[in-house]
Amino acid sequence: VNIAILPTGEKEVRSIGNVIILRNVTPYKELDFAKTNFIANISHELKTPISSIKITLDLLRNESVGTTNEEQRQLIEGIRDDADRLLKITGELLNITQVESGQIQLNIAGSPVSEMLGYAIAANEMQAESRHIQLIAPETELSVLADAEKTAWVLTNLISNAIRYSYDHSNISISVIESQGIVQIAIKDSGQGISQEYKNRIFDRYFRIPGSTREGTGLGLAISREFMEAQEGTLRVESELGAGSTFTIGLKKA
Ligand code: ADP
Repeated sequence: VNIAILPTGEKEVRSIGNVIILRNVTPYKELDFAKTNFIANISHELKTPISSIKITLDLLRNESVGTTNEEQRQLIEGIRDDADRLLKITGELLNITQVESGQIQLNIAGSPVSEMLGYAIAANEMQAESRHIQLIAPETELSVLADAEKTAWVLTNLISNAIRYSYDHSNISISVIESQGIVQIAIKDSGQGISQEYKNRIFDRYFRIPGSTREGTGLGLAISREFMEAQEGTLRVESELGAGSTFTIGLKKA
């Protein structure tokens, strides 16, 4: 801290020395570590029962254990949506603990794009019902140098956002292109779009555009960007308010 003294009536600011404040941050670091560990453990513990609730609901939904009437089916759908939301939040909490502790564990290998996209599209199948999803990809299989699980998580999150922040019956297109050794996967929606002011801030942890129409944590894009950068990939956005957004990831071709 630089301390300056301004004598009354004089305009000159005179520096009279430096003060260095030393503080032992070890207890804070330990507390931080304990907190991160606690969140990771709780999220992990919550995941298993929520997954079993989902499996049970699927049995009811498929009428594997008896017939259900329309009203019952709607109730089941509602609970399933809530279970999906809870799973999304626990997944985000688990991932943010990895990011915050600076310990993103990567398993980089040649990963087929169609498999990761197939997983991400299937994971969003329930919510996507009223959207028209179009996939434009080269006929030959492309693989990228990536952690397949984390990249599939990023794609799932981007597709989920494209659905959540767009309108019923609107189009979402997913395109895969390869150029000069880089594979780009773009997810384009024709939803509400993002204003210039918020285009960079949406990647900040916990940031949500004021008045966001859907519930959320503001963690998905922050984690996605960290996951992409950790594997030497990119994540960028182009958007126009009222017209829609395109989120594009880029990775090295394997
Ligand atoms: P969450 O969706 O849980 O709030 P994200 O980190 O995924 O968290 O997104 C941060 C914010 O960015 C969202 O709250 C939303 O306001 C905005 N956003 C993300 N994706 C889109 C999109 N495809 N279209 C419009 N806004 C979006």
